[in-house]
Amino acid sequence: MKGKSGPSNNASRSLYKDKEKPTQIRYSNITAAKAVADAIRTSLGPRGMDKMIQSSNGDVTITNDGATILKQMQVLHPAAKMLVELSKAQDVEAGDGTTSVCVIAGSLLDACHNLLAKGIHPTSISEAFQKASDKAIKILQGIATPVKLSDRESLLKSASTSLNSKVVSQYSSLLSPIAVDAVMKVIDPATASNVDLRDIKMMKKLGGTVDDTELIDGLVFSQKTTGAGGPNRVEKAKIGLIQFCISPPKTDMDNSVIVSDYTQMDRVLREERQYILDIVKKVKKAGCNVLLIQKSILRDAVSDLALHFLAKMKILVVKDIEREDIEFVCKSVGCKPIASIDHFLPENMGSAELVEEVQTGTSKIVKITGMAIPGKCVTVLMRGSNKLVLEEADRSLHDALCVIRCLVKERFIIAGGGAPEVELSLQLMEYANTLTGTEQYCFRAFAEALEIIPFTLAENAGLNPIATVTELRNRHAEGEITAGINVRKGAITNILEENVLQPLLVSTSAIHLASETVRSIMKIDDIVMCIR
Ligand code: ADP
Ligand code: MG
Repeated sequence: MKGKSGPSNNASRSLYKDKEKPTQIRYSNITAAKAVADAIRTSLGPRGMDKMIQSSNGDVTITNDGATILKQMQVLHPAAKMLVELSKAQDVEAGDGTTSVCVIAGSLLDACHNLLAKGIHPTSISEAFQKASDKAIKILQGIATPVKLSDRESLLKSASTSLNSKVVSQYSSLLSPIAVDAVMKVIDPATASNVDLRDIKMMKKLGGTVDDTELIDGLVFSQKTTGAGGPNRVEKAKIGLIQFCISPPKTDMDNSVIVSDYTQMDRVLREERQYILDIVKKVKKAGCNVLLIQKSILRDAVSDLALHFLAKMKILVVKDIEREDIEFVCKSVGCKPIASIDHFLPENMGSAELVEEVQTGTSKIVKITGMAIPGKCVTVLMRGSNKLVLEEADRSLHDALCVIRCLVKERFIIAGGGAPEVELSLQLMEYANTLTGTEQYCFRAFAEALEIIPFTLAENAGLNPIATVTELRNRHAEGEITAGINVRKGAITNILEENVLQPLLVSTSAIHLASETVRSIMKIDDIVMCIR
């Protein structure tokens, strides 16, 4: 009996399973990706919580930045990894809004779940979401206000908005002018269409508090001058950057020279002295009075004897310049790296008004200011009382710099505090009424999903999310397009009066990237394991 009905049963079951499997895969992907989004939801907004991340080697990071949290999270599910990539993409594209992008994606996935349950085909959902996201971006562009780079106030407000949701928010009044000034110094506001953030060097120095952070229009080395009685302040500096060593050469192989009698010993010493003195004399002859020496991994880049000679000739020496800093140093000082003493010529050197060693907190640094070509590169000297604060301050300032960069790329700003999302949702709903069929369903779901941002902002600020979002909807329906959540007063007010502004690019790229990721998750119907 059993044997007879077996095959036919199996066949029908396998037929049934084939239809079932893609749906199961989709649901499982949605669940995994949503779990990631939910994990960082509590970090959104100025009242969001921070995360403490412990790595396997015991390192601890405290952060509020979505991209940083996700980067360090151990994510196993392949669909969940897509959200990690999503926040990375937002970090590259806009630099800020890395939490928002994941929260939006999570909410859109939720919407997909409901649409799939209604029996709507994933391809229809995907296509409708594409249209909805294009429409959303158009709407956002419609409500954005243009901003000029000369409008310092707006730039400052945008930078502060980004900093306000960070661990170091109490320092935002200090850090936002630094972010604005740093970017403005390295670009030409009239012609710039992008900012190379590598021109802004962030130097972290433990000690002091974040309050002591300063912007230096020039170059800073975290090491001291080498001393040895040499100068530690040089005006009208001629700066040479060398990549060779001023120390006795070593043999190619590891062998030793045995010196048996005193005269030979004397000769070796004399030779060495002469060799070094020759180099130092050539350096002096080229007119150099500040010598920067690249770190060498083979031997000591500069011997004690060389330092002594250099000090005698009144040449200021900074050694151990890292390989990766060379390009930045050359660009800002206007010199060329010199690989051998024969190329130590005046035209390869740069110049600056002043090079000096200064005391900051408990340690000394070397500052180079007044370059011949000003404003090419600037340095931000970050200070912090402990490593955790210092690193988070560094990340937060990076976000603020990115916000200003967004404004250079696309000179439009919009209000923050949930205002744009509610406005979008409202206008998309209205637009959905002109559509028919499943498309209308999907548009509505998309529009509703965007309300997650004000919902979460309210939730994190300890307000009643439902009451807040419904009131926001009402206010927007009455035409108050800048009504947003005022977390300080715990009410809904005109958010522009609260000075909460953000670049248009942050919001448009968040919506664009989030819907793109959701669409690609929708299109996956199987996970195949690879043997290798
Ligand atoms: P992200 O990593 O996405 O930038 P944030 O934690 O910086 O996440 O939060 C950004 C959100 O918080 C944005 O939607 C922004 O409009 C909102 N926001 C920032 N500052 C305020 C504020 N003072 N009041 C209300 N909302 C704010
Ligand atoms: Mg932010």
